[in-house]
Amino acid sequence: MIRKMIKIGIPRGLLYYQYYPMWKTFFEELGAEVVVSPPTTQNMLSQGSSRVVADTCLPAKVFLGHVLSLVEECDYIFIPAIRSVKSKVYNCAKFLGLPDMTKAVIPESPPILDIDIDINKGKRNLYLAIYQLGRRFTWNPFKVRQASIAAWQTHLNYRQLMSSHSLTPPQAIERISGTPETEPKANSSHPTSAQTTIAIIGHPYLLYDEHINYRLVHRLEQAHNKVLTPEMLTSGKRESAIARLTGRAYWTYEEEVVGAGEHYLQSGVDGIIGIVTFGCGPDSLMMDMVHRQAGRLKTTPFMSLTLEEHTAEGGVVTRLEAFLDMIYRRKRRQVCA
Ligand code: SF4
Repeated sequence: MIRKMIKIGIPRGLLYYQYYPMWKTFFEELGAEVVVSPPTTQNMLSQGSSRVVADTCLPAKVFLGHVLSLVEECDYIFIPAIRSVKSKVYNCAKFLGLPDMTKAVIPESPPILDIDIDINKGKRNLYLAIYQLGRRFTWNPFKVRQASIAAWQTHLNYRQLMSSHSLTPPQAIERISGTPETEPKANSSHPTSAQTTIAIIGHPYLLYDEHINYRLVHRLEQAHNKVLTPEMLTSGKRESAIARLTGRAYWTYEEEVVGAGEHYLQSGVDGIIGIVTFGCGPDSLMMDMVHRQAGRLKTTPFMSLTLEEHTAEGGVVTRLEAFLDMIYRRKRRQVCA
């Protein structure tokens, strides 16, 4: 008798860009097939948005749209509740309630595979949570252990690939899996601005979702700029930048905003773009810290872009063009001086 492979759906939203290769390895090692939702579309966003109240943050609406697109495609949907992955450093409350929120607003969803990750509860608790998740596939604890070791190794390799080769998460996923995730890179031999380096800071689910940010990375590369992102820095570099600016991190994503922002402000890039989403309290606070620091240092132009469901593409493009224009003029002046 041929046993049907269990299909696990992974929504391409929120923590996908941080952990997808690790999750994929874990489930495949346990004999399951992994299905990922397609890139975000306007229809997905509208569908996700229709299930929640208007002031829910944009990335959560996008995430629900991805869950809806997987409803007919898999046997289970994997939605972890990640409270903390570092001692006394916490995730936004949205991540904690994600499995419950999804169950409540998408009752037609296939069963949700969830796991509570909170490093503050100790290693024993973490191993128990991983084992409980793995038990859905096998009763053999050694198989679960092997799968989790392979998954963790994949995660370390993924992080290393991004920081040592200056790759974005979609580029690194593409390298690991061989499946195209990004548009081809523009030819970077343009004579006027080839050396312009722009850092973009913010959460991966804002930086790499090309639908909600209107292909920001691609547009910058197409204009022959070198693009740097938070994942291209090691965690150590981001942590020491946070230590310089605020002392100690309390939120997990401070590394992506404050850590990366402070590091790039001090590293001589030509400009920094901070991406936030409307209605996100933690982001508005952290991006403001970076903005103020840019004002104090007066060395690097900084622009903050706020994305929301009804942000017009024309508005984003105009601001981007004006910002780049200002940077190119500034660079030309520096060269002539
Ligand atoms: S950090 Fe902000 S944007 Fe991200 S899930 Fe939480 S509220 Fe939403």
